[in-house]
Amino acid sequence: MFQNYCKGANSVRIFSEFLFKNILPAVEEAIYNKTKVQIADNMKCNNPAISGNRCNLENHILRHLAIQEEFKSYTEYIHNPKLYFQSFIGEHVETFCGNYKELQVMLRENLKEIKLHIVHTSKEASEEVNLKNGDASMWLDHFCTNLGDHMVINRQSLTSIQDEDISDTEFLKDMIAKYLEEVVKSENMEKVDASSQHLCLLKQKITEILFKQLEGCWAQCPFCKAICTNTMSNHTGDHRVQFHRSSALGRWSYYKTDEFSNNFCTSMVSSDSSFRSCASGNWIPFKSYRDGGDPYDKWSITADGSTQGYWKWFICRFQKEWEDRCGYKFKGEGVIPDSWRKITKESVLEELNVRD
Ligand SMILES: [Zn+2]
Ligand SMILES: [Zn+2]
Repeated sequence: MFQNYCKGANSVRIFSEFLFKNILPAVEEAIYNKTKVQIADNMKCNNPAISGNRCNLENHILRHLAIQEEFKSYTEYIHNPKLYFQSFIGEHVETFCGNYKELQVMLRENLKEIKLHIVHTSKEASEEVNLKNGDASMWLDHFCTNLGDHMVINRQSLTSIQDEDISDTEFLKDMIAKYLEEVVKSENMEKVDASSQHLCLLKQKITEILFKQLEGCWAQCPFCKAICTNTMSNHTGDHRVQFHRSSALGRWSYYKTDEFSNNFCTSMVSSDSSFRSCASGNWIPFKSYRDGGDPYDKWSITADGSTQGYWKWFICRFQKEWEDRCGYKFKGEGVIPDSWRKITKESVLEELNVRD
């Protein structure tokens, strides 16, 4: 009798220890997954840059760039907007997750909840085994299946313990409680700081979620590099943008000169000038810019003459830097109109109409 008890107890110990050693990564993953979704949802509701659509996000980016007034950031945004958007979101996630105390509270809360699920599920599994006179294999089937909504446990990885004697369900309960406490104490739950690998991964995943939600078409206007505002990445129909920029931003210049072409797309397409297609080298009148083929024929550019002060201010503010970068000058045909110099940073920020 005594011997049997000992054998059973040992079995239960082996069973629970192996079980928890195996499911620990899944438990941690479940907790971090839950936290990841919570933070993404929270930011989607409360962060003004992220809570709207991509147009709103872009306006926040333009505002951030103007406030920062750093040329390098502008070039990153103009040349690789997708990457810039991603790192902008990443910075906001970084700020949110910089509050380790709050983050730890969230992780602990989620851990508490998952613990309850594990206790509940293991209790149910034991009840079923008792009722049907089942064995460890039945217990594991129930446990893995019913925890499935919260975490993915590979039932196959637990076959080595499915023949253990777990008939002492009271002792099993105690053992499960003991190992759960060890899960709580595992270093990834106890300590959240900048060096935590889990935290790095968490931030990366949140950025991915938010970026995906705010992603859209990344096509850039062949003349001014403005980004298509369509919210679908593979949309049908033409690319469009609300505000075009000066073609100097697209590095266009007058043929065989070092003078920038400093006209906005919306006026160029109604002008009598022509441009040389990058692909074919043929001269195409702006009025029929679509004849230039791909990428020109994928864009709908309306000749409404609309302009935004923002890029005029940018050109005045970073004239020298942009000239040096592109190797052309704002002179001759491409001279900067005097009226542009009167545009202030305050007025372009106002124009963007975004608030914190
Ligand atoms: Zn354009
Ligand atoms: Zn598009």
